[in-house]
Amino acid sequence: MENALEIYQKARKKLNAFHYAMYLISWDSETEAPVGCLEERSKQIGELVSMMLEISHCKEYVEAVKTLYDKKEELTTDLKLEIVKVWEELEKELKIPEAELIEYEMLLAKANNIWCEAKLNNNYALFAPVLAQIINWQKKYIQYLETDTLKGYDVLLNDYEKGFTKKEYDEFFDLLKKELVPFVKKITSLKPLDDSFVYKKYSIDKQKEFAHYLMDVMCFDKKFGLTKESEHPFTSGYGTTDVRVTCHYYENLLTSSIFSMIHELGHATYERQCDSKYDDTALSGGTTMAMHESQSRFYENIVGRSYPFWSKHYPVLQQLFFENLHDVELDDFYHAINKIEKTLIRTEADELTYPLHIMVRYDIEKAIIESNLDVHALPKLWNKLYQDYLGIEVPNDTKGILQDVHWAGGSFGYFPTYALGSAYAAQLYHQMKKELNIDEAFGADDLSKVNAWLKEKVHKYAGSKSPKEILLMVTHEEFNPKYYLEYLKEKLSLIHISEPTRHAQIS
Ligand code: ZN
Repeated sequence: MENALEIYQKARKKLNAFHYAMYLISWDSETEAPVGCLEERSKQIGELVSMMLEISHCKEYVEAVKTLYDKKEELTTDLKLEIVKVWEELEKELKIPEAELIEYEMLLAKANNIWCEAKLNNNYALFAPVLAQIINWQKKYIQYLETDTLKGYDVLLNDYEKGFTKKEYDEFFDLLKKELVPFVKKITSLKPLDDSFVYKKYSIDKQKEFAHYLMDVMCFDKKFGLTKESEHPFTSGYGTTDVRVTCHYYENLLTSSIFSMIHELGHATYERQCDSKYDDTALSGGTTMAMHESQSRFYENIVGRSYPFWSKHYPVLQQLFFENLHDVELDDFYHAINKIEKTLIRTEADELTYPLHIMVRYDIEKAIIESNLDVHALPKLWNKLYQDYLGIEVPNDTKGILQDVHWAGGSFGYFPTYALGSAYAAQLYHQMKKELNIDEAFGADDLSKVNAWLKEKVHKYAGSKSPKEILLMVTHEEFNPKYYLEYLKEKLSLIHISEPTRHAQIS
């Protein structure tokens, strides 16, 4: 077994170096690579992937991992968890023909750019053939990985959030549909709030200045991270020492960069606060997609759209954009950032209508994978579902089916984790309220108290505990979506339905 461990560790070291190179290439592709290099770049990525497969699929390595897996009870706790994860992933990978895997990586390397061009030019027809190829691959992938218990779309769902399949998601989304669709209707039928100041002209340089202010508020250590711009904001990193976030600035929409920045910094905080002993292991980084999203949405919505947070930071924002905000009171700002509106863009959506956007994508993915819906029929279905769930007309594909990068990146089964993450966040918040003075923690100069609580309860474990284990340990119960519904209804009723003066009680 010692020999197996040595072989494993030596190979992991090499693979980590490849992963690091791939991470940097993908960061560069999405932030500043010139368009003309993508064809050449995709060739080089294909070569790198095949070199990685030479290491991870070679007989010696596979046998070493298998040996360790068979003798896992003799390993230390963390190593055992790591080997189980590595073996389960390797077992899956080995079921897919290597040539197909390389071809797929090369396809994805080009797809992002084609999607970007299609989105900018409102040209779905340009993206459709690539999307069809990606979908075909997903279907082949499902065939390779189907088991007696996991079939069809469940294979993809389970990849992103282990233990969550159509059965669990259908139950979750049915509950949200039942409770939230009428609540959204009720709130959006009220007289709309005046938030016109949000759409005035805001200098992008000053928005960047405020983004840097937010980094300090969230205690983001620039020694271990940086920020750039990209079409679609995201967080990317390698271990706890290199964590990067991107932002997109719109001159006529102040709130977009503020909340996407807080969101991405939420992801970054999770990565940064993992115990560094997991760096370079398979347990590095957040535990699952939904738990990751729970953290970003915790910061973005529960903290970032709270009254105590802005009581502290609104004066800074007001001063920075004095011309536009001098006559906008804190209360008006607080109401505006919690405005409930039926809108087209998921990433700009308020926290109440957000899960409805996710349901649209969940239904479409089910239709693609299980009903073999043709790519050319997707925009029509997209537009119909927006009408059904949100009651709005989609004017073009840029603001419709082309808005998200996920499908271009081959991420099918990922979207539902966003809604699930929001529900995890609300359950954690329910517990945090019992242990922390929220007004004080959210309204402090910086969020160090919030960071410390989340580090202790969630972040430090990195990938060594599942969301199920974390929720049980922290909140003393299994996943329970009732906290999510309670949180949304309580907060938003208080803002929009009850007396406006009562909002100060919200925490
Ligand atoms: Zn996110």
